[in-house]
Amino acid sequence: MTLILCDVGPRDGLQNEPETLAPSVRAELVNKLAAAGLPRIEAVSFVRDDRVPQMAGAEEVVAGIDRRDGIQYAGLVLNEQGFERLRASGLDRVNVTLGATETFNQRNGNASLAEATARVERILVEADRPTTATISVAFGCPFEGQVDPAVVAELAGKLRADELVLADTIGVATPLAVRSLVERVNALEKPVGFHGHNTRNTGYANALAALEGGATVLDASIGGLGGCPYAPRVTGNIATEDLVYLLEGEGVETGVDLEALIDVSRWLEGMLGRTLEGQVYRAGAPIVSA
Ligand code: MG
Repeated sequence: MTLILCDVGPRDGLQNEPETLAPSVRAELVNKLAAAGLPRIEAVSFVRDDRVPQMAGAEEVVAGIDRRDGIQYAGLVLNEQGFERLRASGLDRVNVTLGATETFNQRNGNASLAEATARVERILVEADRPTTATISVAFGCPFEGQVDPAVVAELAGKLRADELVLADTIGVATPLAVRSLVERVNALEKPVGFHGHNTRNTGYANALAALEGGATVLDASIGGLGGCPYAPRVTGNIATEDLVYLLEGEGVETGVDLEALIDVSRWLEGMLGRTLEGQVYRAGAPIVSA
């Protein structure tokens, strides 16, 4: 099975940045990522504009996307109203999310784990297009600490999503744990993905470990966009171009044009007016010697 790289920059990335970009600029970002060959892009989230101003105008973003064949455009939804908006927008995929622990769901979504699971199930039942369920804090929780892999695997088994993504939301995982949990969830016989953060510099090693464990989907964010709300001084998502550089070097085909991706990060740097977290776009692609 081929690897699917999902760029979550336009959604998870920008949602966790202080700046708010206009919908037209966010649509342009999605189009640039598609042109660079990203097979999947998380473009928007359908949430209330007053709650998450960075994601305001989701419909406007979608309207500005020049849809390309063969590319999956996904959106995050938190409830049935969000799903109705996604359906009306015509996006290809639905992403739903819940935390692996009781306290994370309480603090993050004002719901118990059981309520969050039921909420996600309602959307999954209603969804008439491919679904991904992302389990946040699957390796560690800012409130409960280490998370029992057996609990995560059991939760994963309950979710009737087409695909399961395990998220190291606070960037505490190390490769052995990632590989082991991916292998465990892989036993459910549906595609498993990994969403890595580089908070403690283990994000890229973890992505490789996820692949070894059988993951077929990897999330990353252009330029490393997206901070970590629980550790505000550090980086969040792993950078897509850094991951592509690593994977291609390891002989894993991504289908992504690294030079084009680097250009996207440089463009984004201009848009945001500051240096991004990604390292490969700053170093540049290596000079190929004869
Ligand atoms: Mg993230």
